[in-house]
Amino acid sequence: ESRASAAGIVQLLEMLRDTAAEHEEHFGRLDAVAGDGDHGQGMTYGTRGAAKAGSEAAAKGAGARTVLLHAGDAWAEEAGGTSGALWGAALTAAGSVFDDTRAVAAPEIVQALAAGIDAVVRLGGARPGDKTMVDAALPFRDVIAAEFASTGDLAGSVKKAAAAAQEAAKATADITSRLGRSRILGEKSLGTPDPGAHSFSVLMDALGNFLSS
Ligand code: ADP
Ligand code: MG
Ligand code: MG
Repeated sequence: ESRASAAGIVQLLEMLRDTAAEHEEHFGRLDAVAGDGDHGQGMTYGTRGAAKAGSEAAAKGAGARTVLLHAGDAWAEEAGGTSGALWGAALTAAGSVFDDTRAVAAPEIVQALAAGIDAVVRLGGARPGDKTMVDAALPFRDVIAAEFASTGDLAGSVKKAAAAAQEAAKATADITSRLGRSRILGEKSLGTPDPGAHSFSVLMDALGNFLSS
């Protein structure tokens, strides 16, 4: 029921927090090549804030929708930075798919992931090939939709989509960035994947494992 769903969302947020902490140094190193080097810290602070706010909301009896709305606001606020604002908006948009009074079901989770990605595209305005997290998020969205439609297996679909995101994130090494801070350093980013695309694929891979455990 709805309380179990809120608790599940909190566990998921805590898993994202732990995953971001594990990868903090690497995210930061990628961002230091052509950006300002703070992507590891931004992801750590953002996910930590989201997990804390989500857990506090759930303790007060909030359902999945409200938990994610609070978590999204906290992510944006605690992370600072561009990716924090985009992840925060993604969580808020994902939460809007759920209903506080009903349990979270697999088809809604797929819809919520798509809604989150659409929010990132809407808010950030990045296009495919701009060397941003969108380059990993769009293949993720397409693969999860197709896989889930044909198999109905949520965890399996997330894993396949995360693998596609990982491959797409790797491929961003071959492009020069045009958006975000690293555009200033232009060619410097050539040969290094986009930090936000990489971190997106890492978190979605962890989500796939979380859902199948
Ligand atoms: P900041 O650039 O403010 O220091 P971060 O270092 O946390 O923020 O995040 C950088 C990442 O944000 C980039 O690698 C890129 O993936 C993502 N990003 C930047 N601008 C956009 C945008 N307009 N749309 C989507 N993603 C973006
Ligand atoms: Mg940065
Ligand atoms: Mg910054």
